Amino acid sequence: MRQRLAVGNWKMHGSLPENRDLLDAVAAAAAGLKKAVCAVCVPFPYLAQAQSALAGTRMAWGAQNVSQHPKGAFTGEVSAAMLREFGCRYVLVGHSERRQLFGEGDATVAAKAKAALEAGLTPIVCVGETLAEREAGVTEKVVGRQFGAAAEVLGVKGLASSVLAYEPVWAIGTGKTATPEQAQAVHAFVRGLLARQDAGLANGVPILYGGSVKAANAAELFAMADVDGGLIGGASLAASEFTAICQAADAA
Ligand code: PEP
Repeated sequence: MRQRLAVGNWKMHGSLPENRDLLDAVAAAAAGLKKAVCAVCVPFPYLAQAQSALAGTRMAWGAQNVSQHPKGAFTGEVSAAMLREFGCRYVLVGHSERRQLFGEGDATVAAKAKAALEAGLTPIVCVGETLAEREAGVTEKVVGRQFGAAAEVLGVKGLASSVLAYEPVWAIGTGKTATPEQAQAVHAFVRGLLARQDAGLANGVPILYGGSVKAANAAELFAMADVDGGLIGGASLAASEFTAICQAADAA
């Protein structure tokens, strides 16, 4: 059975006092989970705080970005090895905000995922189409291109240690969730792409759905055959919402 996952993406939110309450609450809630893995991806400056609050609990933590370079004159960048020093298990790569606002292309995303794997992190590789692309009927073409670029660099071995996240750009932070059927259709397509790389991959690599997941819609999304959990933005900032989403992943 594939791993069930619920991963929070705090984006650029938080403060030391606010985080303390949120981290304590999600750590306490994680204690009741049986099979799902849950994690929060926090801004870089809060990694030490997450590490100290979550170490020894069932709530893992990670970062939202990583450099593709191991070290050197890359002002403002953070390497995968540095993230490991702060106990990160996961790192998001290719989030649509990175692709759209910071010009990260498929090759950069693939290189970041590779750097993460080489340092012992699990990359969560995000793919997804814009509204214009969906309306033009090119969702599979776009998602297939994004996946293919990562697959070419990571190979079967790298993909086997990665997590994928389907995040339709039109559903991120908009309150507009893909229907369970819309999500399932793309997840099944991605599952097929994994199977084409290697039969074993299709059943091993978790594919998360992201885009306005809330406590109220998590269970129906996670009930779909190829949806293995969620990548949660806004709702991961509210302890009660995120806790309920983790519980829905655990029960799915
Ligand atoms: C995200 O940031 O990855 C995300 C899915 O955001 P939201 O849940 O707020 O749509």
